Amino acid sequence: MQTRDRPRVIALANQKGGVGKTTTSINLAAALAELGKSVLLIDMDPQGNASTGLGVLKADRKITTFDVLTGEASLEDATTKTSVQNLHLVPGTTDLSSIDLELVTEANKVQRLRKSIDEYQNPQTDFILIDCPPALNLLTINALSAADGVVVPLQCEFFALEGLSQLMMTIRQIRQTVNPSLRTQGIVLTMYDVRNNLSGQVESDVRENLGPLVYRTKIPRNVRLSEAPSHFMSSLQYDSKSSGSVAYRALAVEFLEKLEHPETSRQETVHE
Ligand code: ATP
Ligand code: MG
Repeated sequence: MQTRDRPRVIALANQKGGVGKTTTSINLAAALAELGKSVLLIDMDPQGNASTGLGVLKADRKITTFDVLTGEASLEDATTKTSVQNLHLVPGTTDLSSIDLELVTEANKVQRLRKSIDEYQNPQTDFILIDCPPALNLLTINALSAADGVVVPLQCEFFALEGLSQLMMTIRQIRQTVNPSLRTQGIVLTMYDVRNNLSGQVESDVRENLGPLVYRTKIPRNVRLSEAPSHFMSSLQYDSKSSGSVAYRALAVEFLEKLEHPETSRQETVHE
């Protein structure tokens, strides 16, 4: 049951690995927090990269997404502070990779996260962002079942659209079964390289195929974005003026605008 105070829930998903899901989760969350929004980032990936990138190291991951999914802890219990004001985190750990086995006898396996979010009692939280693993597995399905919208990071590379129709089909199936309100919120081009002709070609191709679903803001390839996690910071903290930080701030503004104008988030058919 959706209450009026339920935060807006956005999953960052793409089953392709290394396309910028975690970088986008951390920096979009940090940019929204900077705009005064209260954000909770849920790390659904056994790799725990979003947790590390926000400075929540393994020893500090006491109550985690795993405990939430198994029903051992509430979202409130699992929430921890980060070094970014207005940004909280539910940390992810390697034991998430055994979640299938852990929930094998449970009913309603795909709605575990949704149930926890429905029970979440923090009216101050504006957004819950979910960093998904690179697979269409039970973890991603839990995220999509709980989400109002999906943001898909798409790396500007050859075969960028490969696999996207499978993701879109999964989103459609989830909409038709457990989560009718699920929308594809937007597609964000990542690792855009102005010096590489291929990036421009990929961009035209993606915009031609997916039209208004694609955010105008592109995330450039920027070394500061890849350095920031090793300093346990968002890029916005690590190098506020870098091209990556500037782009994620612009994305946050466009993301909020697009939420207000849902007609640009229609459910287009994706052709590969
Ligand atoms: P996975 O599927 O493994 O979870 P992911 O989709 O979350 O990966 P990231 O971890 O965000 O992808 O990015 C993959 C790698 O590329 C990381 O080393 C990251 O620092 C780097 N990276 C991401 N975006 C950019 C960018 N715009 N410019 C430069 N490097 C980037
Ligand atoms: Mg990741």
